[in-house]
Amino acid sequence: MPVKNSLAEMQPEISEWRHDFHRYPELRFDLPRTTARVVALLTEFGVDDIIEGVGTSGVVAVIKGRSTASGKVIGFRADMDALPITELAQHDYVSTESGKMHACGHDGHTSILLGAAKYLSETRNFDGTVVLAFQPAEEGGGGARAMVSDGLMDRWDIQEIYGLHNMPDLPVGTFAIRPGPLLAASDFFEVTVQGRGGHGAMPHSAKDTTLASAAIVMALQQIVAREVPALGAAVVSVTGIQTDTMAHNVIPGSAKLTGTARFLDLSIQQSVVKRMGEVIAGTAAVYGCEASFDYEYGVPVTENHHECTEYAIKAAKTVVGAQHVATDIDPLMGGEDFSEMLEERPGAFIFLGNGNSASLHHAEYNFNDDAIPAGCSWFVELAEQRMPT
Ligand SMILES: [Zn+2]
Ligand SMILES: [Zn+2]
Repeated sequence: MPVKNSLAEMQPEISEWRHDFHRYPELRFDLPRTTARVVALLTEFGVDDIIEGVGTSGVVAVIKGRSTASGKVIGFRADMDALPITELAQHDYVSTESGKMHACGHDGHTSILLGAAKYLSETRNFDGTVVLAFQPAEEGGGGARAMVSDGLMDRWDIQEIYGLHNMPDLPVGTFAIRPGPLLAASDFFEVTVQGRGGHGAMPHSAKDTTLASAAIVMALQQIVAREVPALGAAVVSVTGIQTDTMAHNVIPGSAKLTGTARFLDLSIQQSVVKRMGEVIAGTAAVYGCEASFDYEYGVPVTENHHECTEYAIKAAKTVVGAQHVATDIDPLMGGEDFSEMLEERPGAFIFLGNGNSASLHHAEYNFNDDAIPAGCSWFVELAEQRMPT
């Protein structure tokens, strides 16, 4: 693999950093150990500035090039948080915390960006400034938004921003990307169905919330099937049903449905959300029940900017060769809060092959250390290619 030679040599060291993060996973904004380690390593590398507590517990580091005359400032982002999952993987650095695990590979992303930081602060072979953003709370906590709201883009004059995510089943040493929408807007909803409880043997005297809930689940599926254009992308998943009693002989008086909806297109999102409200209310009424519908807009679409996608592709091709870079993959319906940063500045997000592994968020998942040199080199190439000396 034509990665930077010294980065290939650094793989064991960078893997050690990752294994340490992996052993001690932390959740959301609560990352005292992780951020302390990030800051200690950045200090050791001799970066020009380290700012802690950005967006609660984010860490920003600044590396100036040999010259900064170009005035260019490029941002690189990595996420640091783990997931509330108990690890089932078998290796010698498994999580020491029951109920916490790096099951999305953010231990790998953080280590990769640290590896790039070490290389860049040693070589400084660019004309401009690199700003590193180590982000908390990617997994549903709004960490990217918190850093942006705390002035990430303006305080450090970031002009473009890039990030990566590992991807299981994509071969190690390969990249994949597309211009435009790459990942979906990810929203969440909750429906509360209110009826009248009663005896399981006398349903005529009750307003059956279980039956109404089942009908709502079925009816919601028809919105995507019959009302979204066939080539439009939308997902409506009801993921849970809970009634206020689970007795064999009691018709419950209320029931709750939870779920998620995903979109790549804002107009489809608007029309589906409107129809969800109508379908839920109408279906509940058929069964003599009432329903409330709470819809929470989550992260926006991860929209790769076209020019920056070209830069990301060029850097990836330099690192692994053109034949190992897929440049027009299908979008995925997963969500990623790097989208919040792409709403502020042009940039791009790329997938890095994790090889054969369990899927993201699976208890047996593990980040693949062999992906580290390519990931580090991609960031380094971007810095050097976008800000040539
Ligand atoms: Zn994740
Ligand atoms: Zn992730």
